Amino acid sequence: MSALLLAACGSPSAPERDEGYDVAEQNYRELHHALLVIDSHLDTPANLSNPDFDVLADNPSKLGRVQVDLPKMERGGLDGGFWVIYTPQGPLNVTSYEAAKLAALKRSDEILQLIEMHPNEFELATTADDAERIAASGKKIVYKSIENSYPLGTDLGMIEEFYNRGVRLIGPVHFMDNQFADSATDLSASDLGGLTPLGEELIREANRLGMMIDASHAADSALEAIMEVSSTPVVLSHTGVSSLYDHPRNISDDLLRKVAADGGVIQINALGAYIEDLEPPAERVEAMEALSEEFNGISPFDLSSNERERYLARRQEINETYPMPLSSFEVFMDQMLHALAIVGPDHVGMGADWDGGGGVAGMEDVSDLPKVTERLLEEGYSKEDLEKIWGGNLLRIMRQAEAAKQN
Ligand SMILES: [Zn+2]
Repeated sequence: MSALLLAACGSPSAPERDEGYDVAEQNYRELHHALLVIDSHLDTPANLSNPDFDVLADNPSKLGRVQVDLPKMERGGLDGGFWVIYTPQGPLNVTSYEAAKLAALKRSDEILQLIEMHPNEFELATTADDAERIAASGKKIVYKSIENSYPLGTDLGMIEEFYNRGVRLIGPVHFMDNQFADSATDLSASDLGGLTPLGEELIREANRLGMMIDASHAADSALEAIMEVSSTPVVLSHTGVSSLYDHPRNISDDLLRKVAADGGVIQINALGAYIEDLEPPAERVEAMEALSEEFNGISPFDLSSNERERYLARRQEINETYPMPLSSFEVFMDQMLHALAIVGPDHVGMGADWDGGGGVAGMEDVSDLPKVTERLLEEGYSKEDLEKIWGGNLLRIMRQAEAAKQN
């Protein structure tokens, strides 16, 4: 079925035929590379301040290190995506807000510097129409997004500041409850009722500016509140389904149906510990316990910013020395196929959490993305379905956000 379908799509230039030419393989790769392929959550900006990282080079691709650079994007047919300004959660006070704001602005500037340094390879995108245009020009698409709105403090005027710097997707919360929302993974007793009043204002202000809302990391109650308040559909930029693996980062089939009924999209993540029960190696458990003791069991949330940085650097070290065991490509695909079975190809996409913990055995970095296309074709999904899954759905919501913009 897929061979027929692919023959119908046509291809601009027939590849050299050589020994072992595999028609099906050649065709799914051609189709994949012809599609507009966007990932909704690239943590790659975290690498930009690393002097060893060269975005134009094929950096060592050991899982957990560099998963996105230009050669890998070319091989994997990844046209670009949402490049994340991520801020770890810190204490809710004026001094910490200020430090977080400066760090987020710096990260935003680093994304712009990437584009300024490589203007023939990357371009900042700020509208849905930009994606096609930039991809057609042979450059990679750089949308900006915010993961964790903590650095806004209580000054919602900062949303417009970030909008003016190109941010088009904003997520209120990360691992811990904050001034805006309940987090999916904050198991402390506090319950903010989903969104705080300030969180509701954040959603309205993002709507007013024409920015999309990202409810990944939000607690179920916060996701429901976001859908209630937002005038445009919600994006789950890197999330999984809990009916296959019950983790607080994932959502139930019922809630997923609500997201779809609201016009929203789930972008499936590929972070092993969120998609199956993976036992960490004993050395890792020991090292993590030693780290906790070293910091007297204090949560990083309650550490001073210097100490928190030291803690996070040590944790990164442990991650690299004793990595979590890997999940597999099939477990990732099960997540995607389940979401597709529940809500259909208009409401599913991909946000693998590249350079942020994502990646599975068999799909270690973005060079392996054509495998997803191959697998979806095998399952009977059409070229039109693939166009939606790889970016069309996300851009549809972006157009809705643009249309809802008020001056
Ligand atoms: Zn995340």
